[in-house]
Amino acid sequence: FRKNKFSEEELLKDLLKGNKTALGRSITLIESNQKKNQKQAEYIVEGALPYAHKSIRIGITGVPGVGKSTFIESFGSYLIEKGKKVAVLAVDPSSSVSHGSILGDKTRMEKLVTMEDAFIRPSPSGDSLGGVARKTRESILLCEAAGFDVILIETVGVGQSETTVHSMTDFFLLLKLAGAGDELQGIKRGIVEMADAIVINKADGDNQKPARDAKLEFRRALQLYPPKESDWKPEVKLCSALYNEGISEVWEMIELFHSKTKENGHFQKNRLEQNKFWLYQTVNDYLKSRFYEEPTIKAALKEQLSLIEENKTTAFAAAKYLLSLA
Ligand code: GDP
Repeated sequence: FRKNKFSEEELLKDLLKGNKTALGRSITLIESNQKKNQKQAEYIVEGALPYAHKSIRIGITGVPGVGKSTFIESFGSYLIEKGKKVAVLAVDPSSSVSHGSILGDKTRMEKLVTMEDAFIRPSPSGDSLGGVARKTRESILLCEAAGFDVILIETVGVGQSETTVHSMTDFFLLLKLAGAGDELQGIKRGIVEMADAIVINKADGDNQKPARDAKLEFRRALQLYPPKESDWKPEVKLCSALYNEGISEVWEMIELFHSKTKENGHFQKNRLEQNKFWLYQTVNDYLKSRFYEEPTIKAALKEQLSLIEENKTTAFAAAKYLLSLA
């Protein structure tokens, strides 16, 4: 019986030494819904906290097929060759529905997955985006405590999840394609507004000219947005993830962003703001799940829902009654 091998003390110690197996196991504890595992996870996250925060967190989004995995594969490999340790996490709230996320799928990052200094983890499944987000946020901290200095967080550009990833990253990168029609209408205004950079991928072969045109178009469009609090002017870059072109330019841009925002104080300020946001978020999620899991509430909720169906109460009266039971 090798119980001690998996004790939280042991896991934390190994994790702080950079052991990827311990990191993986600790994240599994974070993702678990069992009380006992959650307690262990809490211990590890708390112990890791003083050693975290020494990284740059980069959010990467874009519609399916734009080349996110391919980009992460070449960008991640490039960074590792430069001596960085790279963790790849994913946020995909649909993964519980579709049984397994395609994001962060290791088979799509063949080279990166074999590298000693890479750690790749698919999206946690969760019943809500809030749940997935909390798990990912804690996983970021553990990756940092394990010595990973670049954290890439991948998400699909089709919903609420970009906002979530934006709220846990320092730099937000939007991958786009040229000539995909309706260039600007195709992406929600909000996402473009969040982006620190738009990188037009697949700028190779016959696509080079359309990519250059799209670059100009995006540049013009970005000028219409109000200046960012960070004072950073979002850039538009071209790259070919498949042929490894433009990859170093993307990193140089992020390094410039990093040094500029550290200098003007935005980097630290933004992380503090994010921490405050996550405090509220965590409390809200906790209260909500505790409320709905309460047996008396569960029973009363069922009753009130029937009453609504029979037109015997209003939504507000029912809500007020349920809240009075809490
Ligand atoms: P994801 O769904 O956003 O993760 O996209 P993938 O990385 O799976 O890429 C989708 C398809 O586009 C794959 O067939 C890739 O080989 C291809 N692809 C990705 N990047 C490039 C690129 O820079 N140039 C070209 N020509 N194809 C690419």
